[in-house]
Amino acid sequence: MLIGVLALQGAFIEHQRALAACGAQSRQVRKPGQLDGLDGLIIPGGESTTMGKLMNDFGLFGPIVSRAKEGLPVFGTCAGLILMAREIAGSEQPRLGLMDMVAERNAFGRQVESFETDLAVPVLGEELFRAVFIRAPYILETGPGVEVLARFKEKIVCARQGRFLAAAFHPELTGDKRLHQLFLTACASRQDRAPAVITA
Ligand code: GLN
Repeated sequence: MLIGVLALQGAFIEHQRALAACGAQSRQVRKPGQLDGLDGLIIPGGESTTMGKLMNDFGLFGPIVSRAKEGLPVFGTCAGLILMAREIAGSEQPRLGLMDMVAERNAFGRQVESFETDLAVPVLGEELFRAVFIRAPYILETGPGVEVLARFKEKIVCARQGRFLAAAFHPELTGDKRLHQLFLTACASRQDRAPAVITA
């Protein structure tokens, strides 16, 4: 299985390490041609306005959106979650808009720039998931097709819509592979060419 990791800015190396730990191959994506032959794509954490600007500069927005609509699974973490959203509260910054949700940036307030917590993510089993939040967003609203996978203090911090997955925290920074494995399961059914669900 070959997973692309958008490598314009942010925590892409850590995602590549996590994928390797799951036994998946990965490729850094900086150009549209590097999307060819992928079974999935990860949009890492970083800074969403910078990443959006670079995606524009590198001509990646249109190609990523069209691949996603053709069936490519996409997993966005932190800034990547923001870029996955249909709407970003109070911001017109560029986004992929793949998931029917509204993201709120830097949503946990300035005093709490980063923190870690043990999160219940029932879809991953009973064991809690160590979640690292760094100037994290949360999901303010979800549409009917979006499944909420985890909340922290009532706020939605992990969600899935078909083959699209988003986490407000950084699963690539801890040793827990379960969220990457969940994404790889969606990517494996893509390998079988499961019919695409057009969501956005
Ligand atoms: N605060 C960042 C943003 O708004 C996201 C932070 C992160 O990815 N760790 O883009």
